[in-house]
Amino acid sequence: MTAVTPTAAAAVTAGEALRRAAPFLSTRPLLIVSDFDGTLSPIVLDPWGAVMLPLARRALRLLAGVDDVHVAILSGRRASDVAERTRIGGASYLGNHGVESGRLQRRQRVRSLQVEVVRVDDRFSEIAEHLATAVAAAIGEPWLVVERKPPAVAFHFRGAPDVDAAGARIREEVERLDPERILIRFPGRRVLELRPPGVPDKGQAMATLIREHRPRAVFTLGDDISDAEAFQTLARARRSGQTDGLALAVQARSEVPPQVTEAADLLLASPVEAARFLAGLARRLGGASTLEAAPTGEMAQRSAAMARPPAKAS
Ligand SMILES: [Mg+2]
Repeated sequence: MTAVTPTAAAAVTAGEALRRAAPFLSTRPLLIVSDFDGTLSPIVLDPWGAVMLPLARRALRLLAGVDDVHVAILSGRRASDVAERTRIGGASYLGNHGVESGRLQRRQRVRSLQVEVVRVDDRFSEIAEHLATAVAAAIGEPWLVVERKPPAVAFHFRGAPDVDAAGARIREEVERLDPERILIRFPGRRVLELRPPGVPDKGQAMATLIREHRPRAVFTLGDDISDAEAFQTLARARRSGQTDGLALAVQARSEVPPQVTEAADLLLASPVEAARFLAGLARRLGGASTLEAAPTGEMAQRSAAMARPPAKAS
């Protein structure tokens, strides 16, 4: 995969993004759709170590509580996984790029999230599981992280000392094990994902959200190639007059895939800047005095976590 490094000038501040968002803030319904990894959480070497920025969590919780504002988290992770990591009551969770969906009520325990799964032939889940086991056994390196999310599977290699070589090794094993290409290859940033043909992608998930919520405007945020599919769906819906809004690319690392910046209206320089944008939306839409009053920083987050029951949405 090729990638370009945008100039620093290409990224805008959260303040500038909020100025661009201003014309849409008085319209309802509003739909806010965000990716998780690299958008609400900084990229870390171990995908299981990804943690949401506290400011983004507070902002999305407030936004999810505003009348006629709908929040959806659209992730490649399983819906239950991303719901555990975000814990935003009142939000929709579209996991596995839209193969899974569920809605968490306010104050509902995340573990009781009901997830609907698009029906797919069991054969694909069996092939994905076979690949998960066999690729891990063949490579046997600690940098390989296998994410099982039937009917799909993802092989992450963020932590490899030589990411190009790691990607090539994984591709080679996958070709050996699935030479007929029964599962479709979706290369992402330091990840190779395999999915059955015909299952929803983020573009189709966005189309479903627009159909369900009929928003007058959409704000959508993401950092990877799969998010560009959602941005393109929004662009088409805007062109046809169905809705309006903005697609915001987030620069999670030193480079951004060109498809992402090309499909976006604006580029934010980091997940922190994305959190500031969401906080600005919350302040403008919800009169969010609690954003400033809430404790900030890792220690405050930890003490707050200790003071409340685990994995409960608010
Ligand atoms: Mg991402």
